[in-house]
Amino acid sequence: MSFEKEILKRRTFGIISHPDAGKTTLTEKLLLFGGAIQEAGAVKNNKIKKSATSDFMEIERQRGISVATSVLAFLYKDKKINILDTPGHKDFAEDTFRTLTAVDSVIVVIDVAKGVEEQTEKLVEVCRMRNIPIIVFINKMDREGKDAFDLLDELEQKLGLIVTPLSFPIGMGYDFKGIYNIYEKNLNLFSGDSKKNIEDTIAFDDIESPELEKIIGTKAAESLRNDLELVHGVYPNFDKKRYLAGEQQPVFFGSALNNFGVRELLDCFVEIAPTPKPKMAEERLVKANEKDFTGFVFKIHANMDPKHRDRLAFVKVVSGTFERNKPYLHVRHNKNLKFSSPNAFFAEKKEIVDISYPGDIVGLHDTGSFKIGDTLTEGEILQYKGIPSFSPEHFRYINNADPMKAKQLNKGIDQLMDEGVAQLFTLEINNRKIIGTVGALQFEVIQYRLEHEYGAKCTYENFPVYKACWVDPKDKKSEEYMEFIRVKQKFLAKDKRGQLVFLADSFFSLQMTQQKYPSVKLHFTSEFN
Ligand code: GDP
Repeated sequence: MSFEKEILKRRTFGIISHPDAGKTTLTEKLLLFGGAIQEAGAVKNNKIKKSATSDFMEIERQRGISVATSVLAFLYKDKKINILDTPGHKDFAEDTFRTLTAVDSVIVVIDVAKGVEEQTEKLVEVCRMRNIPIIVFINKMDREGKDAFDLLDELEQKLGLIVTPLSFPIGMGYDFKGIYNIYEKNLNLFSGDSKKNIEDTIAFDDIESPELEKIIGTKAAESLRNDLELVHGVYPNFDKKRYLAGEQQPVFFGSALNNFGVRELLDCFVEIAPTPKPKMAEERLVKANEKDFTGFVFKIHANMDPKHRDRLAFVKVVSGTFERNKPYLHVRHNKNLKFSSPNAFFAEKKEIVDISYPGDIVGLHDTGSFKIGDTLTEGEILQYKGIPSFSPEHFRYINNADPMKAKQLNKGIDQLMDEGVAQLFTLEINNRKIIGTVGALQFEVIQYRLEHEYGAKCTYENFPVYKACWVDPKDKKSEEYMEFIRVKQKFLAKDKRGQLVFLADSFFSLQMTQQKYPSVKLHFTSEFN
């Protein structure tokens, strides 16, 4: 198959949701359509449970599961579909943000009873910042939940989406009769008694036909007609161009658990979802169909076996083909590297692969030369944009608890930070190290891994910080900036890339500082130009 055809075959996306909305269940059903797995239960739920905080082995085990499900690929209707896993747990939100730099589109799963939840809001905001095309799947229609129109309103108001329903439910919960598929113009009935997964699709072009009464009853027929009239009156028609530009978001309804409405979602997805998109580098825009290989690391996973400290770096192929045993330039190190056993991912397995195409994810064994955001090319000096650090939520001093193991500790901290487990800040005034994390769970993970993988011991000490703000002065030589540096010295630190960061100890002090030094901009992310 030609290179161009391989590109057009690929759909690389992520499923995002608040925990428990049904992401794992939906993933599993999608894989079933691809024939990639034989039975339900094959996709491991990689939720990090609250109870795990006190059980390190449990965290490790769960992290291990998330390696296996980091990328799931399957074939459907001659399309190669790559699903990138995004942890729903908020302590791992940063991992999800980074994964979103490697997807070409997303499906957002919403629980019909809960509507738009906190994690969904944050994740969708990031997608919208980057104009990532979004399809919404409203799940659990077999349960009582919110009214469909209210939910559509909520999507518009809380998430700022411009929605267009492509299917519409007939009743819900006990009265759930099925779905009218606006996109395909057919009726899909939910088998009433068993509420099991046999679905019946009936072509239904003319919604005015009296046949409708016969099939779903007078009352339901009437209300469906009214609903559809309202849908046509209120919501814009589906426009693929606008969807692809991130300006309009189609909505589907269904029940993942009952495998209901999932085929409709998938059929529409393979038709409309984007093929591998061009990606912006510092230097230029890189198109998928360029001959030369380029790609970037968006995730690094530590080996589960502490005796082998090698890691798996996940590389998204942006352009060209990635080939086994061919030398590629590691741009940051200015060094050529060859990979003898790159991994590809299929269903829930990984296997060695000779060639990968744009949109694909390759897993590379690494002994510590990669960090998140690194670019690989065939020689061009290129740095992909769009992997910013976000301000952590929790901050602690990290202290060495075993003076004999200082080297090990530093190496361990270094490598864990490269993996993106947390962020390291070094105080300007005394070089003390501060770890910043998105969730409290990471502190325990770090402590455990330092000990078991690097033989180092650490303790923590509280350090009250409200937010880390990346410092962006208008003029580095201005009086105002000099004064800022002098007065705020105690609160200044360098991040891992050497960028200056202001650690504000409260919302109030942040505001005061910004007012006093208006020409020194303070950003909550590390990428701002
Ligand atoms: P995740 O945290 O988003 O991955 O959610 P899961 O897929 O693990 O689902 C959370 C819970 O909701 C599980 O108990 C599922 O069985 C249940 N669930 C998922 N989809 C449906 C659905 O369509 N209907 C009902 N009633 N329950 C569902």
